[in-house]
Amino acid sequence: MEKLARWLRFLGYPAYTIKGKVSLKKLKPDAVFITTSRNWFERLRKIGYEVFLVPRHDFEYQLCSVIKHYNLKPELSLSLCAYCSSPLRKVSKEEIKDKIPPRVYEEAYDFTVCPDCGAIFWKGSHYERMKTKLEEILKKC
Ligand SMILES: [Zn+2]
Repeated sequence: MEKLARWLRFLGYPAYTIKGKVSLKKLKPDAVFITTSRNWFERLRKIGYEVFLVPRHDFEYQLCSVIKHYNLKPELSLSLCAYCSSPLRKVSKEEIKDKIPPRVYEEAYDFTVCPDCGAIFWKGSHYERMKTKLEEILKKC
């Protein structure tokens, strides 16, 4: 599910994975749950949560199903941190020059930094690959 969550963040939708013991009291009432567990699907639905069941193994089918079910905008917004969902802040590459490899400094563009976990992101050759991947995923369901 971490891969699905990461891709939802790429699209600009905050997503968190829940691991281990879950306290139902701590869950936000307006949260939307995506689960691979029929058991959790039934439990969460019974107490009034919006919950969507996806198949366990095929991440691409999972993402495609979620996009269609919730009518999400299937575009790489890259506005949220891929790790913690926090809104990213745009930075100039001069600001972070000492924190990125020289080749990235030369070739990449659109730098952002996460104010919470400090992760740095940029657009480079991987950005084109992500766009191609998203197109493939959208054909999956
Ligand atoms: Zn972060």
